Amino acid sequence: MSHGWRSILRGRDLLANNLGWVVGNGQSIHVWQDPWLSVNKQERPIGPPCEHYVELKVSDLMLPETCEWDLHKLQLCLPDYKDSIQCIKPSQTGAPDKIVWLGTKTGEYTTKSGYYNAVNGEDNGHAGPVGDDFNWKKNVWNLECAPKIKMFSWKLLKGALPVGARLHERHVPVDPACKRCGEVESITHLFFHCRFARKVWQLAPFATEVDCSGMIDLAEEWLPICVKKCLPPSGISSGSLAPWILWSLWKERNKFVFEGHSASPEDTLSKALVIAREWCTTKERNTLSKSIRITIPVQLPPLTVTIRSDAAWAPGGTTAGLGCFVISPSESHSFSKGVSHVTSALMAEGLAMLEAVKLGAKEELRKICFESDSSQLISAINSGTCCPELYGVVADILAFSTIFEFVTFAWIARERNIQADRLAKAALNVSVPQVVDGVVIAPN
Ligand SMILES: [Zn+2]
Repeated sequence: MSHGWRSILRGRDLLANNLGWVVGNGQSIHVWQDPWLSVNKQERPIGPPCEHYVELKVSDLMLPETCEWDLHKLQLCLPDYKDSIQCIKPSQTGAPDKIVWLGTKTGEYTTKSGYYNAVNGEDNGHAGPVGDDFNWKKNVWNLECAPKIKMFSWKLLKGALPVGARLHERHVPVDPACKRCGEVESITHLFFHCRFARKVWQLAPFATEVDCSGMIDLAEEWLPICVKKCLPPSGISSGSLAPWILWSLWKERNKFVFEGHSASPEDTLSKALVIAREWCTTKERNTLSKSIRITIPVQLPPLTVTIRSDAAWAPGGTTAGLGCFVISPSESHSFSKGVSHVTSALMAEGLAMLEAVKLGAKEELRKICFESDSSQLISAINSGTCCPELYGVVADILAFSTIFEFVTFAWIARERNIQADRLAKAALNVSVPQVVDGVVIAPN
């Protein structure tokens, strides 16, 4: 079998083990064969099903008129899963079921998550020089430095840099000696113990010196050198300098090995400082421009009615309060409702918005601006892509909103959403789910 074929088959297996269904209308999903119970991992009901229900589709578990779960049927076929199934919100407007990648929050496949799952899914006997308890996220991926430097740090800590000693271990016919001093070129030698490296570390503008001779266990010393503070004149106010120095050492080592010459220790350090400083400045400029970016409000046509929605949900709880507040020139309506089987704040916000859209349709409003203080929800609706959990709800919001002449979904600050927030909280505190409709005459 060729390398190409092996890779294709490996990719197929990776997908087969990490794809799952999100429920729309339930017509494409086999209850017992397909993974559809979770949007985080592959989960199917554990059978065996009785003969009569073997071919059951997920849509068979819903009431045909409303596409809501048929509680009687759930009790009959899947009593153990009754509660968790009710936490899945199918599409009432008949959106098709969808296959998603379970490794990411968005349900979209990314190379990064694919690689992660491939590596974690198999027994990885090739641990690098660091132990299994090494916190990669904290020690490498969350470092304040450029992505290429993180990648380099990861290779370094994994022992995956082709230094002389490593190549020699792998029976690559090269001289394992350090080209600068003749000692065995291991990772610790090249980056800390070699005369050249020592000199570079000595020159580094750290508030406290790096003890190169004490550097034996890189994994253990890693974080302390990464969080070392730099002296003010260096111009590096935030982030870690050490990984940049290591990167620069590696670049100069390669130049020395392959081109026969390299920069002096002084220049090696100053190269590290220059790129680190450049990265810090760009980053600061980016955060600054992000924070002063003003959102331009959408121009609303005349007679547009605003409906604000909000949800109240307590972490760990399964009930939510939904509130909607209609602001029209003549009067204000309000609506609130308590619902059960809600497992996240985002889902609660989504359900509140769905009620708002239904309310707008019921009131036969034609031009509506829907507002919510959940930026995640608003961007999910506006982009049409969202986390798999909310698939059915967002599909319904979009389907219902096609009946309006003008519709827009906008984010508002929490302080501006007080009325809807109060309604939602009140609805959450009412123990029995119930619907409260009210009309309030607007003060203005
Ligand atoms: Zn050396």
